Amino acid sequence: MGEGTWRRSPGGLVTAIAPVLQRREGAWIGWPGSPDERLNPFDHDGMHLIPVPLSASEVELYYEGFSNATLWPLYHDVVAPPVYSRVLWDAYRTVNERFARAAAEEAAENAVVWIQDYQLQLVPAMLRELRPDLRIGFFLHIPFPPGELFYQLPWRRELLEGLLGADLVGFQRPGGASNFIRLCRRLLGLAHQKNEIHLEDGRVVRAAAFPISVDFGEFDSLVRQPHIVERAKEIRSELGDPECVLLGVDRLDYTKGIGQRLKAFGELLHEGSIKPGEAAFVQIATPSRERVEEYMRLRDSIELQVGRINGEQGELGMQPVQYMHQSYGRDELAALYLAADVMVVTPLRDGMNLVAKEYISCRHDLRGALVLSEFAGAADELRQAFLANPYDIDGLKRAMLAAMRATPHDLSRRMRSMRRRISTYDVDRWAKEFLADLES
Ligand code: ADP
Repeated sequence: MGEGTWRRSPGGLVTAIAPVLQRREGAWIGWPGSPDERLNPFDHDGMHLIPVPLSASEVELYYEGFSNATLWPLYHDVVAPPVYSRVLWDAYRTVNERFARAAAEEAAENAVVWIQDYQLQLVPAMLRELRPDLRIGFFLHIPFPPGELFYQLPWRRELLEGLLGADLVGFQRPGGASNFIRLCRRLLGLAHQKNEIHLEDGRVVRAAAFPISVDFGEFDSLVRQPHIVERAKEIRSELGDPECVLLGVDRLDYTKGIGQRLKAFGELLHEGSIKPGEAAFVQIATPSRERVEEYMRLRDSIELQVGRINGEQGELGMQPVQYMHQSYGRDELAALYLAADVMVVTPLRDGMNLVAKEYISCRHDLRGALVLSEFAGAADELRQAFLANPYDIDGLKRAMLAAMRATPHDLSRRMRSMRRRISTYDVDRWAKEFLADLES
């Protein structure tokens, strides 16, 4: 393993899967996170890890390219223009083949293999070809788009056929599953009965929604620890003890609607709906995909916007927006959730959004309000949030103000009901339900 140390990468997927794998005796096949790194399998953090290398050029073409500049924007409502390039596609196929071979070598006879996410959509069919004995599941953590958008993809048939190698294809929302089923019918001419797709060779593939969740118990007990409670108080006092702390926590991604929420907050200050010093907005933006051009542009635009708001609405020693382009540990994140009166989650499109569910998990005090975009998968379950359309800046402002001005009674009623949902449907239940369905 050399001299290096290991760090978890940020993002919903790792956060969700690690506890599941730790509890089962499973192996995790994945890219170690830096180019040209050739490592032997090793154990870390209670998991058996099997690294699959990517060359520097594959990182560029497969990971930053086809995964994050083609599929990511296409699957998120084309909120940025997807790049369609045959060179990127070739790299995607090559790397998917490598993962399929690694899984084929590792899996025991009749084992269950669970393939995660949009970077590996060809693996199910490739793996089935190599190892027809396996049970293969696939889960897509991001949205699955409707035909109107998916049709743009020059390799649309290949991707559907790749996914159909699985026995069970899981989506975050029922809408994703029905988009997939409809596309299999329209593009491949396959018949279906309810959520079962019938292939020409007689095999049946099921497509269904399994909304992912968080480790509710972990957050719930973390925020009850005295050092977190203390840190939350400290954060509020460092902010100058404003009446209201609003918080955003996201990867710095153009799907997250960070610009829209800052615009709404800036306007509320400008028009005097929020008085100077009354509220502080903390925006944590984890660095992400920094070599992809669209992300560089986004960073510049958000930082310009923060500078404008603070320049126009701030005073000496008092800046209404605190912006941090940094990653934080679990403890600090939990303290921030506990310190925030209003959590603002406004993606333009999001598979689920775990940040929203983490916030709910942290608020055993039944205080705190969640402003949540209708376009996040989490909106299906968190109906008691202050729901808003992030494209509608006036609507977003109304939701933010309503959240700030809500009575403690109203807040506790909403929070109790949302906590009931997340504590019942936590990440463990998500994994168990998917695997039980796959194995049935
Ligand atoms: P995505 O998977 O698109 O990044 P999610 O909201 O589903 O979005 O998941 C984000 C995950 O990353 C959450 O578990 C959250 O706690 C974590 N995270 C986000 N920002 C930070 C940060 N600045 N520091 C540490 N963890 C972060």
